[in-house]
Amino acid sequence: MFPCGHKGYGQGCHRCLQERLLLEQKQQQRRQWENSFAQDPIDLTDLPNHVVVKARYIIAGLQTQTDYRQFGGKRLRHNRSIVSIPVTRNYRMLCRDYGSFLVPQEVLSHEDYNVCKPGGY
Ligand SMILES: [Zn+2]
Repeated sequence: MFPCGHKGYGQGCHRCLQERLLLEQKQQQRRQWENSFAQDPIDLTDLPNHVVVKARYIIAGLQTQTDYRQFGGKRLRHNRSIVSIPVTRNYRMLCRDYGSFLVPQEVLSHEDYNVCKPGGY
């Protein structure tokens, strides 16, 4: 019996050691995740994790000249220089078309998108 209450043999409690290592690993992963946003060309910090992952996948694709139509992207009818690419069911990425390449502008939820559509884009 160890001071922590766990039972076992040896110098120290292996279960507590393992828990501590796991916690440190998680903290490090969280730091890496938080730091990773500095690499993004647009702000993705407020988005759910799976949206961030998908958005980065699309951004990387655009950077390597993948056609936006392969991601289901469409030009906005009222502003042909803006392309809207679905990220998930609830989010879309707006990109500005510079002719030979697209530059991501922002990722919006459907609600934000419908609000900003008439004015901003
Ligand atoms: Zn223990």
